[in-house]
Amino acid sequence: MNVAVLCGGVGGARFVRGVVDVVEPREVTVVGNVGDDLEILGMHVSPDLDSVLYALAGLADETRGWGRADETWHALDTVAALGGETWFLLGDRDLGLHLARTQALREGEPLSSVTRRLAERLGVGTTLLPATDDRLRTWIATAIGELPFQEWFVARGHRDDVDGVRFEGADAATAAPGVVAALAAAELILLAPSNPYVSLGPILAVPEIRAALMSRRVPAVAVSPLIGGRAVKGPADRMLERLAGGTSPAHVAGCYGGLIDALVVDESDAHELDGLGDVRPIVTRTLMRDADARRRLAEAALGGVPA
Ligand code: GDP
Ligand code: CA
Repeated sequence: MNVAVLCGGVGGARFVRGVVDVVEPREVTVVGNVGDDLEILGMHVSPDLDSVLYALAGLADETRGWGRADETWHALDTVAALGGETWFLLGDRDLGLHLARTQALREGEPLSSVTRRLAERLGVGTTLLPATDDRLRTWIATAIGELPFQEWFVARGHRDDVDGVRFEGADAATAAPGVVAALAAAELILLAPSNPYVSLGPILAVPEIRAALMSRRVPAVAVSPLIGGRAVKGPADRMLERLAGGTSPAHVAGCYGGLIDALVVDESDAHELDGLGDVRPIVTRTLMRDADARRRLAEAALGGVPA
């Protein structure tokens, strides 16, 4: 069964691990967010693609929840000692990947091609594609002005309320090679329990990707990132409250107007299923606390497809 998954970083990566437990990994294509990408210390960092890569390669640090396991921080300590920029945390092992990617990009290789090579080298059988090879950057409007995504999220700990989100470059961006074909070949399209605004928003802002979803002939199923109206982690609940006016399943579904046929919602949100319109609710437990829970959530989203 061919499945395409649109996904952000940590929440998306957890979900994708569940999906490849249920579906043959080679039949899964992950379309990842690049709106969070940044240039830091001379390197191109793609945090969301790397979260997926590390998760699928079994290299992720499950305790910390991001980055690589067995990480050390000597390079960043040196940067700090020398008065360099250290607000964006980069471990030594992680840095190695950024160095390899940055050199390839400088030599003119598109991000999708670099990502494919990295995935192959790490033994990942699932196809991981950036939404676009073009420059696409998320900007966050706040009371203190418009901030680049990572300045808002990491440097300021996403404490500023969000008045709006803008995806620089999205209108002119074309989908990365393979993305439209993967969406067309998919028998099911999944939207991971990622932040609807800043993780899936940039992907859906690429015109060809949005058009592919709008004209789909197969079901598209999103998984809500909220449990009991609260984000498991991060600012998704505060953003929904402020930008959509609430945190019910209908408010989540509203972020994907016309793009989804079903929404997987947590049991704790099952009391407020009003306003979903044509979107069918699939109620289950959605907390991905371990491999079993991830797998069960993937099965629910896949409509009970057996292993
Ligand atoms: P980021 O790019 O690293 O911020 O990650 P994502 O956008 O992919 O994921 C962040 C979202 O994942 C947050 O809104 C969380 O609420 C959601 N999330 C994390 N873990 C879980 C989980 O176990 N279950 C559900 N339903 N959502 C989760
Ligand atoms: Ca992200």
